[in-house]
Amino acid sequence: MFYLEEINGKKILKSSILDGLNHFFTTRESIIKTKEIDFEKSVEENKQDICKYLEIDEKNLIHPSQTHTSNVDVAKIGLSSYPDTDGLILTNNEQAVYLNFADCTPVVIYDPVNHIAAVSHAGWRGTAGMIASKTVQKMEDEFNSKPENLKCAIGPAISFCCYNVGEDVYRELSKTVKDFSRLYEIRKGSIYVDLKGINKRQLIESGVKELNIDVCPYCTVCNNNLFFSYRKENATTNRHSAVIKL
Ligand SMILES: [Zn+2]
Repeated sequence: MFYLEEINGKKILKSSILDGLNHFFTTRESIIKTKEIDFEKSVEENKQDICKYLEIDEKNLIHPSQTHTSNVDVAKIGLSSYPDTDGLILTNNEQAVYLNFADCTPVVIYDPVNHIAAVSHAGWRGTAGMIASKTVQKMEDEFNSKPENLKCAIGPAISFCCYNVGEDVYRELSKTVKDFSRLYEIRKGSIYVDLKGINKRQLIESGVKELNIDVCPYCTVCNNNLFFSYRKENATTNRHSAVIKL
């Protein structure tokens, strides 16, 4: 279940499935990523508040470059640059990792047994590249995580109600899961896909238990008062973020 909390009076969103992991999704008011001058001051203030909340130095609040790949890396202490990377696994408790979104799907994965976690950026390209499954696979290969132990939260994103795509995108996404039924719909001649649902299905097909996956009810277009939407806001550079810290 997703619920709202606050940092210094500003809303953040959390998932009860990730109890035990320091995590949250920022909202419009707790923004920490922008290229707009008008928002820069808020971003600086919010970053300071968030670092204080997480009890870390600002240099340890890191994010990968996010270029719509399906490449997953492991965060390394002292390293803040992760080019061509859209998923980051966190295994140390000095750093916090954040990824930035405005419609794309955030996937947070927590292994409470090994106490490691990851965030991945699953827009349609990342989802077509199966970044959620690749993140699980890397956690299995490198840290001996067991999919059946993993807890996952799929964050605010453009949802089934609003996400219409072209036939090419539909076709790419349909190849990523064995069972694509109920993950798309034709409405008035347009194809709608359930990007959160496709990521959930990929995780289940990777061995994650369905009851260990929490899917956020918020749509970034319908709930644009709380979150940013690239589509609705004309290619805005403002982002909400998924933040994790062990
Ligand atoms: Zn919607």
